[in-house]
Order: sequence, then C-alpha cells, then structure tokens
Amino acid sequence: MSRFFSAKYANLTPYVPGEQPRTAQRLIKLNTNESPFPPSPRAVAAAQEAARGLNLYSDPDARALREKLAEVYDLTPEEFVCVNGSDEILNFAFMAFCDAQHPAVFPNATYGFYKVFAALNNVPYREIPLRPDFSINVDDYVGLNATIFLANPNAPTGLALPLEQVEQVVAGNPDGVVIVDEAYVDFGGESALPLIRKYGNLLVARTFSKSRSMAGARIGFGAACPELIADIETIRFSTNPYNVNSMTMAAAIGALDDEAYTRGCIAKVCAAREWTTRQLRELGFELNDSKTNFVFARTPKMGGAALCAALRERGVIVRHFDTPLLTDYNRISIGSQEQMEAFIAAVRAILEEA
Ligand code: PMP
Repeated sequence: MSRFFSAKYANLTPYVPGEQPRTAQRLIKLNTNESPFPPSPRAVAAAQEAARGLNLYSDPDARALREKLAEVYDLTPEEFVCVNGSDEILNFAFMAFCDAQHPAVFPNATYGFYKVFAALNNVPYREIPLRPDFSINVDDYVGLNATIFLANPNAPTGLALPLEQVEQVVAGNPDGVVIVDEAYVDFGGESALPLIRKYGNLLVARTFSKSRSMAGARIGFGAACPELIADIETIRFSTNPYNVNSMTMAAAIGALDDEAYTRGCIAKVCAAREWTTRQLRELGFELNDSKTNFVFARTPKMGGAALCAALRERGVIVRHFDTPLLTDYNRISIGSQEQMEAFIAAVRAILEEA
C-alpha cells in the first residue's frame, strides 16, 4: 500500500477471482463457472460488425439492447438497465440501496463478492447462516428492514429457492430492497422476473456470462420497476455512462436473437451435470442436486484443498474456498461432456493413489 492510499480503503480485502491461466499447458478449466461453448455465431458476427464503429462512444442508454431485452422477457425497456457484467449492478445496488439505516443482509455462504461490495461502500452487513444442509430458511429473511441480497440459485451451494419463497422474502420486507441475483437461473432455477411488476422493492440481476457464453464480453442487466431502475441509472450516470461497450452491446443483441443456441448449450451443460453428479456419487462423494452450471462436492476420503491441489497437478482446475464452512468441498464448474469425463478420470486416479 502506498502512503497515498485513502484510509477509507485501508482495511479493504479485495475479491479474489478464480485463476485465468496463461500457461501453454492444456488445462481443463472448471473453476469460474464459464460456459465451455463459444458464444452464438450471431453474437460474434454482430461484435465484429460493431467493431467498425469503435471511434464513437457506445450508446449510454443501451436503447437497442433494452428494447431487445423487453421483447425477449416480455417487459418494457424502462424496466431494464444494462451493466458491465452483473457484478456492476450488484455494486450499484450496494451504492444505491444500502447505508447505516439500510444494512445489507445475505446468507453465509453465498457469492463472496457481496461482502467485498459492502466493505467497499462502507455498508454494515449481517450474514444469516444456512441450514446444515446448505438450504436457506426464508423465515429468517422476513421483516428485516434491510437490503437483502439473495443469489438464486445460490453459489457455491448450487441450491435454488422456489419462486413462492423468493416472493415471501420480497413481500416480507416492504421497506427494504430485495436483490435477487439470478446468475445461474437458466440452469434450473425459477426466475423472479414475473414479480417485478407486483413489487416495487424487487431488483433482479442477470448475466450473459454463464448460459449465454459471454463471460469475457462483460454484460449483464438489472430488471425492476422504473423507479428502482431510475435510482440505479443515477448511480450509473455518476460513475460510467458508457459502461457497456458497443461491441458487447451488439453481441448481446446477437445472442438474444439466437435463443435456440442458448437453449442447446444449457441442455448440454445440464446433461453433463447429471452425468457428473452420478459419477461423483458412485465414487463416494456427497453433493446436492445442483440447479446451476457447477456442482459443490466433498468426499470423506480427502480434504477439499488436497483434492483441489491434486487435480491441479493433473491439469484440472476447480475452485476451493478456504473458509471453515466450505473447506471440505470443491466447486466444480460443468464443462463439456468430454471435459467432465477427463475430470472424473482424474478424480478416480487421485482416489486410487490416496
Ligand atoms: N453473481 C453470482 C452468484 C456469481 O457467481 C457471479 C459470477 N462470478 C456473478 C454474479 C457475476 O457475474 P458477471 O459479473 O460475470 O455477470
């Protein structure tokens, strides 16, 4: 830290993203919940075309993309805001809706970035423990008078709340905003988008990073009633009005024009997930039925960190979280069927050696 770094950030522990390896070695990368498939050819072609216009700033209103989102999700453009990855709208929500009177509340465990955004924005937060089986008890989230962040499905547990229970939380906190982070919803969750017209305190965050194979493009969106969207827009226009670049905006429209491609990718990931789940159970692993593009698994035969390291030696990268609650587990992103077969072969070899 330099002597110039503001004291207000002196204790900030930044988020640690999963490794993006640069080695020439061919690795099987199952550590950041990316899609193993390329983006839709329509997305790629649209980005190439848009590259010709990079001399101009991108549309700060993302009008064309919001109109396309409105068409696909059967809402109006005024109910959307477009962001540079859904991480950005999560940060905007902490800025817009949290302070000493509106502390943040989220489960322990959940997406690790929530804590970092709380610290960055100097917002007090409270974590509510999961049940021992990692499920969320929604009764814990009613009448909190706080700003609630719920990843649904949750990460890294992979478990989803049914829509009625999400609604219970939203209806049970009329004086707080509830942010439902649906990064993984396309792999088996139920979206809360149909509730945004019914509740003025619901903000849904979505991303193109997972089911739409566009993690590197950095594109996500928020959906909510126009008043909440206007609050987010105030923050966005006060930080970076050109937050979404024009290649990405075009690519996102291209991807939305190709729903069949996205559905095909989701089906392949879900089939590989079910296969991987069965194989891991046969090898003695304990894991829940995931509603996401990853599984969260432990084996009584080996510690989580040791398995992660042994897999790395065999060229497979998975994600291990070194916290007391999660340390026995690894989060394994679902890649292609071929990648998952290589992963299971590596696990089998490691367990035989151990
Ligand atoms: N929410 C959750 C629960 C996530 O796991 C992630 C991906 N790490 C994000 C949001 C952010 O994704 P992105 O910024 O790529 O849209």
